[in-house]
Amino acid sequence: MRKVKKIGNSQIFEPFINQSGFRSGLVRDLLDCHVPTKTNLAHDVTLARHLAAADAGRAAKSRRCRIGTTLFLVCLVARLFTCPASAQTVGALSPQVRKYVSASTSKVILEHVQIIDGTGAPPLADRNISIEDGKITAILPGADQSPAEGTTILNLRGYSVIPGIVGMHEHLFYIPFPNLAADGSFERPILFHQMSYSAPRLYLANGVTTARTAGSVDTYTDLRLKEAIEKGVLPGPHLDVTGPYLEGAGNNANLQMHQLTGPEDARETVSYWADRGVTSFKAYTHITRDEMTAAVKEAHKHGLKITGHLCSVTYTEAAEIGIDNIEHGFRANTELDPGKKPDTCSDSGGDYTLEHMIPGSPEANRLIAVLISHHVAITSTLPGAAANLAADATADARPLLRPAVLEAMAPSAREAYLYSRNRARPTQSNVAQQLRRDMDLQHAFVAAGGLLLAGPDAVGIGGNLPGFGDQRQIELLVEAGFSPVQAIRISTLNGAIYMGRQDQIGSIAVGKNADLVVIKGDPSTRIQDVENVEIVFKDGVGYDTRKLLDSVKGHYGEY
Ligand SMILES: [Zn+2]
Repeated sequence: MRKVKKIGNSQIFEPFINQSGFRSGLVRDLLDCHVPTKTNLAHDVTLARHLAAADAGRAAKSRRCRIGTTLFLVCLVARLFTCPASAQTVGALSPQVRKYVSASTSKVILEHVQIIDGTGAPPLADRNISIEDGKITAILPGADQSPAEGTTILNLRGYSVIPGIVGMHEHLFYIPFPNLAADGSFERPILFHQMSYSAPRLYLANGVTTARTAGSVDTYTDLRLKEAIEKGVLPGPHLDVTGPYLEGAGNNANLQMHQLTGPEDARETVSYWADRGVTSFKAYTHITRDEMTAAVKEAHKHGLKITGHLCSVTYTEAAEIGIDNIEHGFRANTELDPGKKPDTCSDSGGDYTLEHMIPGSPEANRLIAVLISHHVAITSTLPGAAANLAADATADARPLLRPAVLEAMAPSAREAYLYSRNRARPTQSNVAQQLRRDMDLQHAFVAAGGLLLAGPDAVGIGGNLPGFGDQRQIELLVEAGFSPVQAIRISTLNGAIYMGRQDQIGSIAVGKNADLVVIKGDPSTRIQDVENVEIVFKDGVGYDTRKLLDSVKGHYGEY
C-alpha cells in the first residue's frame, strides 16, 4: 500500500511578448489570470505490489529506429531523439532521478482507468493499461489484477490517463524585469535567465514528456541538459533543442541574440548548430526574407524543421519560403499592417492585421489556404494573452493563480509577478478581443484542415510557468471552441505528427512508448481536471508529480 499525494494546480499566463516589440518600452500588459482553487487532498492509490525490481539488465534494450518513408523523416527521427527513447528502466537512472520515481518496476498495470487516447476519440471507460519495458503492451477491459512479483499495479478508479504532452513552445529560461516601473516601463537590456534546474522538472511534473524548446540563448547548456536527461542523470522531458534565435538586424533589446549579417551567416549558423545536436530552429522577428530562405534551406538539408516568431516576414511570405511552422497563433502576422515594408517589422507588430483578419473573410480564407497548401503548422500559445485579461473578463471566475504556481516561484519571481499584477493598467484594452480573434482564427485553421500545435511560451511573465502553462493552454483551447478531447489531441498527437514521431508518442495505443499522464478526475467533461496530475510516466517510468514540484519550490526564477 502506498500513498500517492495529489496535486492540484492551475493558473497560468504569460504575455505574448512581441520582441519588436517591447514597443516603447512597455511590457505589454503583464497580467491577470484565473485559476480554480482546489483542495488538494491526498489520495490513495493502491499499489498492490511495488517491488523495486531495478532491472538494470533491461537498460540495453533493443534500439530500433523506425524507418520512415522518406529520407527526411528518417533523418528527423534519427536526429531528434538519439533513436528510441527506449525503456529507461529505473536501474539506469541516477539516484537523484530515482528519488522522484514512484512506479519503478519494468511491468506496470494501470487498472480501471479511463483512457483519453489523444486522437480526439471519445474516452474509453474502465480499461487496464499494461506497460512493459517502457512500452504500452496491452489495453484491455478493466479487471482486478492479482499481485505479481515485479509488477506495480495502480488502481485508478476515478482517474483518467492522457498521452504525455508533446509541448511545442517550451522555453528553458525565465525573463526577469528587474527594473520594471509601475507604469509598465523598464530599461534595457533584456536578458533571459536559464532555468535548467526548475523548468525540466516543472514540465515533467505537469505532464510534458516531450518538449521543443522553441528558441535558445544558451544552446550548449540546453544540449548538455538534453544529454543528461537522456542518460537518466537529471529528471525532465525528452527535449527537442531549438537552436539560437535566428534574429536579423533590428531593435531587439535582448543582448543574448546574435544578429544575422545576411543569408550566408544564416546558413552557417544553422549548419554549425545542426552539427552540434540542435534538432530544430526558430526564425525571429527581424529576420529578412533572404536570411530566412537560407536558414530554411540549410535546416531542411540537415533533415530538421524550422519555425518562426515572425514580424519582418509575413505569414504568407514565410509559407512561400518554406517554413514548417509559425508560432503564436495568428498574432504575429503583419501582412495587413499599415506601412509594412518588406523585411521590416511594422510598428503595429501584427496587432492591426489580427484585428482586421476576420474569420471567413477573403483575407483570412486566403491566408489559411496558403498555410495549409504549404503544410505550415501553427502553434497556439494562448496563456500569454489570457494572462493579460482583467480578472473579471474571462469566461469563468477562477482565482488568479494556483497555489502550486506561486510556490514554485523564487521570491524575486513571485514579487515581480505580484507587482505586475497589481500595477495600474490602461482602462482601454483590446486584449480580450485580440485573444478571441486569435482563438477564432485557430479554430478556422483547424476546421480547414490545418495542423495546430500547442505550447505555453512559459517564461514566467504573468505567472506563466513551465508545465502549469501547458495545462492552461489545454484549457484555453477549450475556451477557443475545441472539445476537451480535441484540445488534448492538439497538445499531444498533433505535436507528435509534426515531429514525425506519431508512431512512438502522442497517443495511447499498444506498441507506443508508455508516456502517460495520470490525472485525478475526468478532463473530457471538466477540462480543469488536466491540472490534477499525480503521476507522469515517461518511457514506462512513473514520476511522482508532488515530489518533483516539492523539489522546485522557491526555485523557478532562480535557476
Ligand atoms: Zn517564445
